[in-house]
Amino acid sequence: MSQPASDRPIRVRFAPSPTGPLHMGGVRTAFYNWLFARRHGGTFILRIEDTDRTRFVEGAEAYIEEALAWCGISPDEGPSNPGSYGPYRQSERGSLYAPMVQLLLDSGHAYRAWDTPEEIQAKRDAAESSGTPFQYDASSRSTMRNSMSLSTDEIAILDAEGAPYVVRFKMPASEPVTFTDAIRGAVTIDTGVLDDKVLMKADGLPTYHLANVVDDHEMDISHVIRGEEWLPSAPLHQLLYRAFDWTPPTFAHLPLILKPTGNGKLSKRDGDKGGFPVFPLRWTDPATGSEISAYRESGYLPEAFMNMLLLLGWNPGTEQELFSLDEAAKVFDLDRVIKSGARFNPDKAKWFNEQHLRSTPVADLVPTAQALFAGEGVGYTADQTATVLDMMLERIVFLGDLKAATWLHTAPTAFPEKMLKKRWKDDTDGILNELAAELRAVDPFETDPIETAFKAFLERKELGFGQVLLPFRIALTGEGGGPSMFAFAAFLGKEATLDRLDQGMNLIAQQRAEA
Ligand code: GLU
Repeated sequence: MSQPASDRPIRVRFAPSPTGPLHMGGVRTAFYNWLFARRHGGTFILRIEDTDRTRFVEGAEAYIEEALAWCGISPDEGPSNPGSYGPYRQSERGSLYAPMVQLLLDSGHAYRAWDTPEEIQAKRDAAESSGTPFQYDASSRSTMRNSMSLSTDEIAILDAEGAPYVVRFKMPASEPVTFTDAIRGAVTIDTGVLDDKVLMKADGLPTYHLANVVDDHEMDISHVIRGEEWLPSAPLHQLLYRAFDWTPPTFAHLPLILKPTGNGKLSKRDGDKGGFPVFPLRWTDPATGSEISAYRESGYLPEAFMNMLLLLGWNPGTEQELFSLDEAAKVFDLDRVIKSGARFNPDKAKWFNEQHLRSTPVADLVPTAQALFAGEGVGYTADQTATVLDMMLERIVFLGDLKAATWLHTAPTAFPEKMLKKRWKDDTDGILNELAAELRAVDPFETDPIETAFKAFLERKELGFGQVLLPFRIALTGEGGGPSMFAFAAFLGKEATLDRLDQGMNLIAQQRAEA
């Protein structure tokens, strides 16, 4: 069903309005468009829908482009890399829309209306007091001031005055409009519930509906893949295609992303409340200067963020959960997009980061981790950073978690009381002193020889692993768990290991004496 029906080239678009930062739902819409294009050898287009100048926000377009780039799904055509269908900002496509509106006026699918906002409000109020809601449609059209209700003379006077007017779509009184949604199947709506939507505003600018349909046609868009919130607009869009006598694209409306509770649509405020990001990149509100947190700045890998979004509305039909962008692009299709809302799970987002962190080649993580340590005043070389990553990757969710492991570079000075009580016995110091002598003889001081010497020591002294390893770990790191102590000792080097052991034992002796 979602297979492209004809040999029409696949062209899909992400068409955000630059009214603020892109929410993760918007990123998912862009992503599913990108996936569909990749899967079918098509083209992914970014079109900026900025006809509503009252809602325009400075910096939002740059944010959208930067977010898509960070996510690894930059468009094949867009404002920054135009193809042959430009311009890619609706505000720059102005001259295109007026002739299209004229076509609809000439064919009788649209009409001009001079009603002022006050007049419409008065109708609304009157209707409300009589208990029937007002709708500008076939039932009320004749009572309003428009080119269908006024006489030729009245219209001539208005035109002579240069009276401002809008252009409205002439919605049929009552007939079913049916189309096939690639995700939802047949959708039927009766035009009786729809109103005569404004297509062109009094300032001569097109509304969303007109510009969107005209541009999708002009840009040869084959599939419109967008959020469920646009489903109510789809019948009007179908009727516009019909009125223009154009072949409509295939429509696919993606499910909503729901709050973690499953109760309603995920909003920006849920992120603030729940302590998880809802936006891909940090955004500073130009009006208030307030900042919102984001996936990138919280330490998420873009691969993990995208993997999470992939499964937030699509299911592969297998048990596989981990996907790279390329793997996803090989198997994605619209027939496995779910119809019902997709519940967002912030813990699962973390899980994806953990998994992707572990599967990323260490060398790729070194620059970020090295910079992170430098920020803490720790000057690790690239090799040292790689060793630290080898030891630690299995134990962190975010690279930023490395900051908390200060014992990597700084000898501990305090030791958890409870742990000492439980693990430090009267013979522990003696055992560790003997171990120190043993370690001093290890050459080369590397992970495997350290392990061999350690095990031989245990065997000779008939000691248990935990009896020795745990106090050794506590003295060196101040922690009860962590990476292989053989690898860590090798990383520190012989002298630093023995110094730390000595210093740790002294501090612990003091602490135990004081307790
Ligand atoms: N400009 C609309 C938006 O902001 C586009 C909707 C569509 O894809 O048709 O989402």
